[in-house]
Amino acid sequence: MYARVDRQVIARLQEIVGAAHVLSAREEMEPYSHDEVPELRAWPEVVVKPGSAAEVAEILRLANERHIPVTPRGGGQGLSGGAVPIYGGIVLSVERMNRILEIDHRNLMVTVEPGVITGDLHRAVEAEGLFYPPDPASLDSCFIGGNIAEGAGGPRAVKYGTTKDYVCGLEVVLPTGEIISLGGKLVKDVAGYNLIQLMVGSEGTLGIVTKIILRLLPLPRAQVDLLVPFDDFGKAADTVADIIAHCVVPTAIEFMEREAVQACERLLKKEVPFSDAEAHLLIQLTGQHEEALEAELDEVGELCLEHGALDVLVAQDRPTRDRLWEARRMILEALNHESPVNHTEDVSVPRSEIPALLKGVHELSRRLGIRALSFGHAGDGNVHVNFLKDDLSEEEWRERLRQAQEELYRLTLALGGTITGEHGIGSTRREFLSRIFDETTITLMRRIKDAFDPNHILNPGKIFPEE
Ligand SMILES: Cc1cc2nc3c(=O)[nH]c(=O)nc-3n(C[C@H](O)[C@H](O)[C@H](O)COP(=O)(O)OP(=O)(O)OC[C@H]3O[C@@H](n4cnc5c(N)ncnc54)[C@H](O)[C@@H]3O)c2cc1C
Repeated sequence: MYARVDRQVIARLQEIVGAAHVLSAREEMEPYSHDEVPELRAWPEVVVKPGSAAEVAEILRLANERHIPVTPRGGGQGLSGGAVPIYGGIVLSVERMNRILEIDHRNLMVTVEPGVITGDLHRAVEAEGLFYPPDPASLDSCFIGGNIAEGAGGPRAVKYGTTKDYVCGLEVVLPTGEIISLGGKLVKDVAGYNLIQLMVGSEGTLGIVTKIILRLLPLPRAQVDLLVPFDDFGKAADTVADIIAHCVVPTAIEFMEREAVQACERLLKKEVPFSDAEAHLLIQLTGQHEEALEAELDEVGELCLEHGALDVLVAQDRPTRDRLWEARRMILEALNHESPVNHTEDVSVPRSEIPALLKGVHELSRRLGIRALSFGHAGDGNVHVNFLKDDLSEEEWRERLRQAQEELYRLTLALGGTITGEHGIGSTRREFLSRIFDETTITLMRRIKDAFDPNHILNPGKIFPEE
């Protein structure tokens, strides 16, 4: 159904980007055959690394003419198989397009290319007293273009929202090879349909983002972090609800269940404080004024203790903060260490429904005989549920995982939630799209895809179930 990449196509790609930026040897292409989904792999026929929007446009024109699939790739840190070339063809990596083009203090905007590592963007603007809040935990490896394509979130979403709240302008190359420019350094802009927000979270299926204008904020001057253990998850959840009801909006409220904390302890080979507590909350408060922050800290600390916290550990300096966050940052690695074959779900429910969701997860885990460890963003309702294969046979694992996914999604939807809060549908969840949307909505989405990509060359095998 798609054409193969032949020698003529490779020669043409070499002309477009230079021979040094085209890879076709199998060992060179290995890193481009997977993202961070364990056990999902598909080989590209060629990898190409353009250096400009004009080169991206030429590649897409060639692919569209020849009917060759193109899979855009950022840092390859995705957790839904979005950058995996399911149908082979061309992997288009934006890694060379990695310049921060301008930090504009007068407009509080930054203009970047898509291959900038998100953590580098943070550091560059922070060095100038500015702040880009979205902070996916993968920020030292993922790219800002991948964050746009996935609509990435992070712990700071509670107070500051996600990537979509910061994108003011985009340059996009369409699958047919035209370059379009959307928005600008504008705080207000309501002209026409909001194609910027259509691109955010479109998972590389509508166009390739080649330039990005992002809104910035002043860098908060004060920060304090709290680690708060509880002997009961219900108490932790009530604490979160009460903090928000008191109109204190922390920057982040993360939670970790006991088993997840203990998995980190085993990996780190050191003790995490109160690791036998049923749940931990990690709360971050930030602000411009020390005094106001101290008052918030007192209020939050008291609320935690009123709700039965076992203790409130406070970190005001960088090394202590890093120690408090160490376990949270290491969780995915710890899970891989526990069971190299595992599967991460990323459901999102209204904040108030987290206790009901976790109760349901414990119940299905016991009943189906599959280990499930949960952690995530208590402040915004986004829960990561990790199923571990442990020593189940291949067949048991596949059957039980499938059943666990089905039940988890059913429960999530019944609680008013959705099946992915930040990792995307990609290729791993596409067969479940019809659980969230009715046929009319899916048809509408397919028509949008057709309008952007009439020959379906851009990132096929993603988002939509196979027809
Ligand atoms: C340890 C770990 C922690 C994580 N924590 C978080 C978290 O806290 N929050 C969160 O949201 N996610 C998280 N993720 C998931 C992942 O890091 C994010 O989805 C991130 O946005 C992916 O960026 P990337 O550059 O690695 O994209 P890739 O994996 O390379 O690609 C992701 C998708 O974007 C498309 N794409 C990439 N670049 C472009 C472009 N320029 N134009 C168009 N499409 C493009 C690809 O085709 C693909 O569909 C985590 C992953 C890991 C491994």
